[in-house]
Amino acid sequence: MSNRKSQHPETILLHEGWRADPNTTSVAPPIHQTTSYLFHNTKHAASLFALQELGNIYTRIMNPTCDVLEKRIAAMEGGSAALALASGQAASAFALQNLARAGENVVSSTDLYGGTWNLFNNTLRDQAIDVRFVSPENPENFANASDDKTRAFYAETLPNPKLEVFPIKEVAEIGRARGIPLIMDNTAAPILCKPFEHGAAIIVYSTTKYIGGHGTSIGGVLVDGGNFPWERFKEQQPAMHRPEPSYHGAVWVEAAKPLGPIAYILKARTTLLRDLGSAMSPFNAFLFLQGLETLPLRMERHCENAAKVADYLAGHKKVSRVIFPGAMEGEARARADRYLKGGYGALVGFNVEGGAAAGRAFIDALEMHYHVANIGDARSLAIHPASTTHSQLSAEEQKQTGVDPDYVRLSVGLEHIDDIIADLDQALAKAK
Ligand code: PLP
Repeated sequence: MSNRKSQHPETILLHEGWRADPNTTSVAPPIHQTTSYLFHNTKHAASLFALQELGNIYTRIMNPTCDVLEKRIAAMEGGSAALALASGQAASAFALQNLARAGENVVSSTDLYGGTWNLFNNTLRDQAIDVRFVSPENPENFANASDDKTRAFYAETLPNPKLEVFPIKEVAEIGRARGIPLIMDNTAAPILCKPFEHGAAIIVYSTTKYIGGHGTSIGGVLVDGGNFPWERFKEQQPAMHRPEPSYHGAVWVEAAKPLGPIAYILKARTTLLRDLGSAMSPFNAFLFLQGLETLPLRMERHCENAAKVADYLAGHKKVSRVIFPGAMEGEARARADRYLKGGYGALVGFNVEGGAAAGRAFIDALEMHYHVANIGDARSLAIHPASTTHSQLSAEEQKQTGVDPDYVRLSVGLEHIDDIIADLDQALAKAK
């Protein structure tokens, strides 16, 4: 970036981490489609491998195109460093595996994306990491479920289908008093919510969604807030204090000291990413950089369109209920207003009169909306969770996760609002 540091995402996402190529003067960050990097000499190579100096070794663990993406996202969030990964799923898995090992536990909100739920409830359990699910309605649930083996708290800022914003500050404070960092999946609310400002320690993104925005690439990012005092919690955070056998017994809180408050991301990069290999491709990083450039503008329009869709649906006689943070009351609305700035996101849920058949008929009648299992695309998307994403759950489990048989979820896109509403209108007319 130029010498003047900006605090504004509109500027950061165009300038941070890259000015121009020193050799060719290229302005756009190039796609560094290379596997490896030439060492100056054996001394240079040895110091890179020993982490005495940070620099490029091999694209599985770092790449200059991914580096620009990492710097931009870290700066956007006010964090100390970031790590680009192959998918949002890889980011969620790394987020926990970086702190918890077999025999230890994590306390997570129940309100999660289905893929994260499976990862926590099955795969991490198979690895003997016990994920304890608690309702986010009462922040004290996190305190009650934790013990001296709890290594992290985990939640989503704006979880669907319920769309009730998570009490970030309240749960972060409970964790900080006990030496437990709060990890926030902010996928559905980039720009709108800044989790580090409310005490979260780590952010997870599926960049597949709004950050990419064009629906072309799968990716994920982990962001280190650089704001968690690992040194003070030796007992509660052994992963950060245990000597690392593959780096001659290095201790992460010590090894990171000369490099800044990046112990968490340094460990994730040099152990998990090195060993498990879920690297983001440089080409995808390039595409996400294109997405980032317009993210603040797009989020503005996504939110504006979603608020209009929520209003339209609330006035429709075939719609029995609308789920949208801006239409909520009481504590749910207070949390939305406390944590989301500049809009209430672009996810809108609603129930169609006529049960499951009407929900399906509505989806089948849509002409412009895409019927896909995704969110955050520039195009408007719709899905009927009871017959798709949540179809493997029992009726009771569906109810618990907020999915009624007649529930439809929209991810409101960037088309002209008149066209979005016209498509919903004609599909609702056919829903019975
Ligand atoms: N987190 C949230 C909130 C998501 O919606 C998703 C995907 O839908 C993921 C994580 C997983 O991301 P990916 O599909 O990039 O692996």
